[in-house]
Amino acid sequence: MFYEQRLRMTDKKLKIALHTLGCKLNFSESSTIARQFETQGYERVPFTEKADIYVVNSCTVTQNADKKCRQAVRKIYKQNPDAFVAVVGCYAQVDGEAVATIPGVDAVFGVNDKFKLLEFVDNLEKNKEAKLYSCEIDDVEHFDAAFSSGDRTRSFLKVQDGCDYACTYCIIPKARGKSRNNDIVHTIAQAQEVAKLGYKEIVLTGVNIGDFGRSTGENFIDLIEALDQVEGIERYRISSIEPNLLSHSIIEFVAQSKRFLPHFHIPLQSGNDQILAKMKRRYNRTLFADRIQKIKQTLPNAFIGVDVIVGFPGESDADFLDTYNFLESLEVSFLHVFSYSDRPNTPTASMTDKVYKQEIARRSKKLHELSEIKHRYFYSQNIGKEETVLFEAQQNKGFMHGFTSNYLKVECAYDEKLVNRLAKVHLLSIKENSSFEIKLV
Ligand code: SF4
Repeated sequence: MFYEQRLRMTDKKLKIALHTLGCKLNFSESSTIARQFETQGYERVPFTEKADIYVVNSCTVTQNADKKCRQAVRKIYKQNPDAFVAVVGCYAQVDGEAVATIPGVDAVFGVNDKFKLLEFVDNLEKNKEAKLYSCEIDDVEHFDAAFSSGDRTRSFLKVQDGCDYACTYCIIPKARGKSRNNDIVHTIAQAQEVAKLGYKEIVLTGVNIGDFGRSTGENFIDLIEALDQVEGIERYRISSIEPNLLSHSIIEFVAQSKRFLPHFHIPLQSGNDQILAKMKRRYNRTLFADRIQKIKQTLPNAFIGVDVIVGFPGESDADFLDTYNFLESLEVSFLHVFSYSDRPNTPTASMTDKVYKQEIARRSKKLHELSEIKHRYFYSQNIGKEETVLFEAQQNKGFMHGFTSNYLKVECAYDEKLVNRLAKVHLLSIKENSSFEIKLV
């Protein structure tokens, strides 16, 4: 109603701009919020453009993520002080009151209310004080389905939310609540919708996706077997999955599936068993090494990305060296290195044996160097091979790029006919920008 009145008054479409911080899950949710507004006649514009309403989808995984949210709001306020500003997402849930005090914010939506934004934003008048729509995280039961569309060749499909683990450094369960999911039937319906939009590749996303089925009495392997049958989707990537939940059966399923790609992303966090126990992770390094070995036995050319945290409280030089040597010994392709940062109200925040910032930076640098070596080695192993690439839409200085099934980046001269197409290529050599030069087969 309000929208129609505004439209008559201005004779122009109202504009919405979104800014997403954090993970793939947030991207899938921002995209879903944007579609809700678009179906009501709003026009989505880039964040850098003038809009009537701005939505910041926040993250709170580190202190820096909180800072980025505050910076984004300040930027909006500076460029367009009259626009309505809503902040949703993890920071909004964990510390909604702090977010509400950021100058320029009109409304803050916690995890249960972010998909009701359109209902609540009934008038785009700026508020003197930000309105806070939130509830206790323990009361959150509902699963809101989401997938991304519009901005990329691949779609991020949310299959799970929340986490029942209690890793001592992690704030995410306080931001996203308990582990929950849609049932397989409804998840398949979402994947079919993604296929109808013309996407060929889906990245399965969630907080702890291996825990899929906790709220519906199903399990992850049944989900991926069902997804494998969806017409139109030719590729799936499983995003980050806990090593204890990445069973041999899942690896074997991926190995025989034509659609699930040889690409794994597994959090290790530390290669020292005492630190893993202090983190309350649910595996030790022997289990982790077993999963890597199983992947490499069944899918020798698989890409394996590994998350690792440096500077966890109490991590000594010797503990760090354990992590370094362990990772060096494993056949992994890339390291995502995170510097430990205190999150409020987590068990580790009150630990006293913190590692100095300079030491964290030194350890981070060492692991980034190791990652570089591993990544280059993985690329070099693929020179001369034939692979299938899905080409992306973006054009950059006359070039386009795409990714092979095992996540090697390729680059070639832009050709519109290749966009969103799967094509066989020959991997010729590695260019200076770390992508492959290719020849179409
Ligand atoms: S598994 Fe641990 S690190 Fe991952 S979201 Fe759950 S609590 Fe956080």
